Amino acid sequence: MLIFKSAAELQGFLKQPDNAKKSVGFVPTMGALHQGHLNLISRCVEENDLSICSIFVNPTQFNNPDDLEKYPRIPEQDFDLLRNAGCDVVYFPDVEEIYPEGPVTRVYDLGPVVEPMDGKFRPGHFQGVATVVHIFLRHVNPHRAYFGKKDYQQLLVIRRLVEIENLPVEIVGCPITREEDGLAMSSRNLRLTASQRQNALIISKVLFWIRENAMNYSLETLLAKGADMIANQEEIELEYLEIRDANDLKEITEIHPNRPSRVFAAAFCGEIRLIDNVSLFR
Ligand code: AMP
Repeated sequence: MLIFKSAAELQGFLKQPDNAKKSVGFVPTMGALHQGHLNLISRCVEENDLSICSIFVNPTQFNNPDDLEKYPRIPEQDFDLLRNAGCDVVYFPDVEEIYPEGPVTRVYDLGPVVEPMDGKFRPGHFQGVATVVHIFLRHVNPHRAYFGKKDYQQLLVIRRLVEIENLPVEIVGCPITREEDGLAMSSRNLRLTASQRQNALIISKVLFWIRENAMNYSLETLLAKGADMIANQEEIELEYLEIRDANDLKEITEIHPNRPSRVFAAAFCGEIRLIDNVSLFR
């Protein structure tokens, strides 16, 4: 497995005659890798001749400086996991390589998908995500790029970015990987204390409860009961719990099995912010 710190080195490698003909798959990450990331990598390895994973903690997508500073960074362990998963190349640039003029966010017309939920509660976050993903897609120029539905709103933002910038890449959305007890895997879970880790389970429990009961109650009742369950859990502070159209994130007033919809939650566990979502119908 090769590790490149600069776009020039990476592109030199990709231009070699042997590589130029190969299909290239790309998995962008912020590192502190877990099985959720590795499932994206495995799919990328299966579907492409060359698999590239990037590790970069992107300063422009953090609206909380403390969260940026405390974001887990364990590159050596990440490299071992990637090697074992069959990844061919790691792109591991410094901030200066990605933002030679300093970390500046570009502003895109991301449309309505950027407005609710994380768009509302994390101002500027998705513009930062779009900025960094656009830079990485230019540096790597992959045929396919893999994103998890764990960050479902982000996946829709990236699809929109690709559309408005006319980027020649296929965006592949991948299922959410969970711990055995249901908690969605996240690098931020590393920062939870043992009791926070246990209490955080209420988030996925409520999402699955809503899914199971989607046809038994009105939408308002489902959300009110769900919010109550979370409010009653120690150490967990709900930020939002919403049911929205899965394609455009528009608010829906009534659940219908023929309309793809998802339930989304964000909650604080101490100072750690966790997000999760579940499809209401398979
Ligand atoms: P991150 O390192 O958190 O920025 O995530 C990098 C990529 O991995 C994103 O596309 C995430 O959606 C995806 N990802 C993170 N956690 C999970 C998970 N539990 N299941 C599926 N994909 C995930």
